[in-house]
Amino acid sequence: MELADLLLPDVDCNIKKWDLLYPDRHLAIGSCVTRFAPSPTGFLHIGGVYTALISKRTANQSNGVFILRIEDTDKKREVMGGVSQLINQLSDFNITFDEGQTEENQSTGNYGPYIQSARKHIYHSFVKFLIVKGFAYPCFCSPNDLNLLRKKQESEKLKTGYYGSFAIHRNASIDEVKDNLSQGKEYVIRFKNYQEQDKHFFDLIKGNITLNEDIDDIVLLKTDGMPTYHLAHVVDDYLMRVTHVLRADEWLSSLPLHLKLFTALNLKPPLYGHISPILKSEGSSKRKLSKRKDPEASIEFYRAEGYPADAVLEYLLNIANSDFEAWRSEHPLEPHQSFLLDIEKMKSSGALFDLIKLKNISKDYISKMSNPDFYQEILKWAQDYDAEFADIITKNRELTLKILTIGRNNALKPRKDYAKYSDLKNHISYFYDDYFENGSELYQFPNQFDNGMIADMLMDYKNTLRPYDTNEEWFEDVKKLAVKFSFAVNQSDYKKNKDAYKGSISDVSAFLRMSITKRTNSFDLFQIITILGIDKSKDRIESAVKYLKTQG
Ligand code: GLU
Repeated sequence: MELADLLLPDVDCNIKKWDLLYPDRHLAIGSCVTRFAPSPTGFLHIGGVYTALISKRTANQSNGVFILRIEDTDKKREVMGGVSQLINQLSDFNITFDEGQTEENQSTGNYGPYIQSARKHIYHSFVKFLIVKGFAYPCFCSPNDLNLLRKKQESEKLKTGYYGSFAIHRNASIDEVKDNLSQGKEYVIRFKNYQEQDKHFFDLIKGNITLNEDIDDIVLLKTDGMPTYHLAHVVDDYLMRVTHVLRADEWLSSLPLHLKLFTALNLKPPLYGHISPILKSEGSSKRKLSKRKDPEASIEFYRAEGYPADAVLEYLLNIANSDFEAWRSEHPLEPHQSFLLDIEKMKSSGALFDLIKLKNISKDYISKMSNPDFYQEILKWAQDYDAEFADIITKNRELTLKILTIGRNNALKPRKDYAKYSDLKNHISYFYDDYFENGSELYQFPNQFDNGMIADMLMDYKNTLRPYDTNEEWFEDVKKLAVKFSFAVNQSDYKKNKDAYKGSISDVSAFLRMSITKRTNSFDLFQIITILGIDKSKDRIESAVKYLKTQG
């Protein structure tokens, strides 16, 4: 007690008192309390969203509670506004919380504060308890001392670290501690680690596992009095009454240590599940998606490309449970929220990131969106990433809504042109005069035909163009045009007797398409003409004729 009072004089080591403040939640049996516990570093990894999604589903499906806890004990990694940025990024991906931090300095729920820097006094109480029980002690080693220790261990080919006889402050007398304190030396508080016999553990995802424990006297409180992750999460998960800790695989090797901390504190630990990372293949090996090397590691990539958040979530559900795909084909119109995620069905090895799969899921998702919703989402995306396009589709709202109907109103077999909102502009820009007239695209009429002949044909077409009720009716007139200008009305006639014709109906369509869209590929021409209207289509044909005439 003397040591504990010396180090943390005004702190109460009675940790039971916290139970009164943060009582049992009295949830129904089977309800899970989970949390997502990111650091506000300004970077949200797709793996973080994956972990958050799995934790959220586990809580929601069991009528439990999903908490957002901000782990900001490493001030070096923090960025200004990082908390609100994180909350916004998560909410963009529909990851919302029942409890926890809601803004930079605000939270909701009775188990807070939910930001670790505001919980220092709580950690100190638990650390004092550990010191009193003989499970923790101050260590006055400087970074340089530890460096020398590591070098010595390396040269002797020993395991590096602060353990056993190398833990020189572990058994210091109270007088030695007083002496160090009086010299004003900085210190950390370390856990007095011990060797456990049992190496067998249960993991919610990986099942029964064997782990080798580390026997380092790890740091619990840093020199600035802030806790390390090891201590902070134990205290927080206990006091927030978290039942299921679902976290990244990288923490698995610390699990024995974390359980020992619960034992030392005489607290019941939560259940742990460790989630394998999303991998990327590199040559013949696989590695974690890297923040530094892979743009797709960042959640910002998906937003900037304009993947619908729910499509990304569907892709992640697909990685999490391989039966999601079968569920989706049986329930094509259900929201993915109705799928029951089962963490026991998660693979214990990491899944490979598959952009093609994501695109297919996204195409499917977009093909099922209603046109007004699709329009709204494109606009939202464009306002952030392509202001000019946002402007154009705002000015031309009705036109855009019509364009979006192309092939998308067939519930049985909708077209799947778009995987992401950023695909739109290139696909449809020719509909808008701003792009058609002022854009960088130029006419490219096939040069094996005489420009004068094409111009005559287009002029003829322009003069006869009228509104049509059906595609067939429209096409009949295109055929007439072909015949008039000695083009075969179908490909096979043309192939059989090439000399009898100037070309075939597909050449005629190509001229019309080029004049109206400046493209060699586009949506069905009849639909384009219908959407643009007869007058505008005529104007465009006329401009093309003028252009052809200047080409001689
Ligand atoms: N702050 C930790 C991290 O971002 C949280 C790990 C956990 O979920 O416990 O890795």
